[in-house]
Amino acid sequence: MSPKACVIGAGPNGLAAAIVLAQAGFHVDVLEAQPQPGGAARTMELTLPGFKHDFGSAVYPLGAGSPFFSSLPLSDHGLEWIHSPTALAHPLDDGTAVTLERSLDQTSHSLGIDGKTWEQLMRPFVTHWKEFAPQILGPVSFFPENPLLMARFGMLALQSAQSIASRFRDQRTRALFAGLAAHSFLSLDEPLSAAFGILMAVPAHAVGWPVPRGGAQSITNALCGVFASFSSKVSVSSPVQNLAAVEKYDLTICDLTPRQMLKVAGQRLSDTYKRQLANYRYGAAVFKVDYALNAPIPWKAVECSRAATVHLGGSFEQIAESEKAVRSGQHPDRPFVLLAQPSLFDSSRAPAGKHTAWAYCHVPNGSRVDMLQKVEDQIERFAPGFRDCILARRVFSPADLESMDANLVGGDIGGGLMDLRHFLFRPTRRHYATSAHDVYICSSSTPPGGGVHGMCGYHSAKMALKRLKRD
Ligand SMILES: Cc1cc2nc3c(=O)[nH]c(=O)nc-3n(C[C@H](O)[C@H](O)[C@H](O)COP(=O)(O)OP(=O)(O)OC[C@H]3O[C@@H](n4cnc5c(N)ncnc54)[C@H](O)[C@@H]3O)c2cc1C
Repeated sequence: MSPKACVIGAGPNGLAAAIVLAQAGFHVDVLEAQPQPGGAARTMELTLPGFKHDFGSAVYPLGAGSPFFSSLPLSDHGLEWIHSPTALAHPLDDGTAVTLERSLDQTSHSLGIDGKTWEQLMRPFVTHWKEFAPQILGPVSFFPENPLLMARFGMLALQSAQSIASRFRDQRTRALFAGLAAHSFLSLDEPLSAAFGILMAVPAHAVGWPVPRGGAQSITNALCGVFASFSSKVSVSSPVQNLAAVEKYDLTICDLTPRQMLKVAGQRLSDTYKRQLANYRYGAAVFKVDYALNAPIPWKAVECSRAATVHLGGSFEQIAESEKAVRSGQHPDRPFVLLAQPSLFDSSRAPAGKHTAWAYCHVPNGSRVDMLQKVEDQIERFAPGFRDCILARRVFSPADLESMDANLVGGDIGGGLMDLRHFLFRPTRRHYATSAHDVYICSSSTPPGGGVHGMCGYHSAKMALKRLKRD
């Protein structure tokens, strides 16, 4: 008889854990609450028929760069990455845009006076991406395999984005770095905010910032395809309220965040461990809008039409102000907006001649404030006439997001705050293990954190297998 495992939640991390267990010879049952697998990697007709929107994630530097995903035959199961000519565009008020190109040389060249500084910062990690990726996409190791490379990264990563940006002489480069670092949800003068700037830029040069043909669901479908090749299946519309109600398994791996762990697995956990989970801190949220458009977005800067991702926030100072406000529980007047426009590069996403856009800004966790006008004002600032292109829109408040994926607690899309404490210990010092020897966590509330890369699931399942063998 094969050993049996249960994975609760079919997000990218749950599916990754399920595949690792199936590869190890387990019979695996995946139980997913929603009617469609994928969690925050799902594509749906959220506005009008024929317009395919990504409910959660949309652009995948860490998906393309994931060591685990790269080990799977995902392309045999339909996954095709599409690279826009420019990875990222960041428009400015003078009607131009600074860009992050796939090529490091081209980016350095386009950054002019700051080109050399940019290159010196990124080159070591880009060149050694294959060794760098497994180390940054896992728990922090105090004895890393590449100590020099990781020491170099550590010294940069622990700084604030503001401190790294002060190395650049041109406002344009500073603005570009601010947009990258703002993915941290931290204030740009906080330690560690620089890490995100670097961790967003390096994969752009190493593997790109691609979108999957057909949208996020193609990643999920490919993972489900690999999983199905082990004669295992995902049961959808199967929410687990309590582990006690689930049949007995040799291992249970939960693609859940700490708050849900307390509800679902609380009876199986020690009081000390439950207290630690209860102390886990969630991060800021997002306010998201999906658009069906009758034309491409009319950007002032032509460079923006070459990029699947566009960062809208203006200068370093303006983005820093927006992120500082959110970090202190306020709603910024001019929020930093992240926008994706996949249909420009993937015609399967909208009816002929029509387009989709995906945009969000950061807001305090659990916010109920309607940010629609502010989001659209930011888009209009760099693309006058945008509102005239809108055929339909769908707005997601933090609560709306959570209602469609319980892991998005209070609208937090990263599975928890990524400050120094949660960078080192996520969600607790045990990382994937819990106080119950047969119950593990694998969501983005474990290392390395948010993003569609499956590495939380991979590491969690590997740890579970190692311990089971040892016992
Ligand atoms: C709006 C948004 C934009 C994002 N943009 C990007 C991006 O562009 N690129 C990127 O890489 N990442 C992005 N992310 C982050 C990324 O999507 C997540 O970090 C990633 O999906 C985390 O994977 P996960 O498996 O840990 O959790 P999830 O994807 O959240 O999956 C968890 C699954 O568990 C299920 N579940 C929860 N509770 C139960 C239960 N009790 N019983 C059964 N099932 C349960 C949920 O329904 C869900 O399917 C974005 C996320 C959001 C929401």
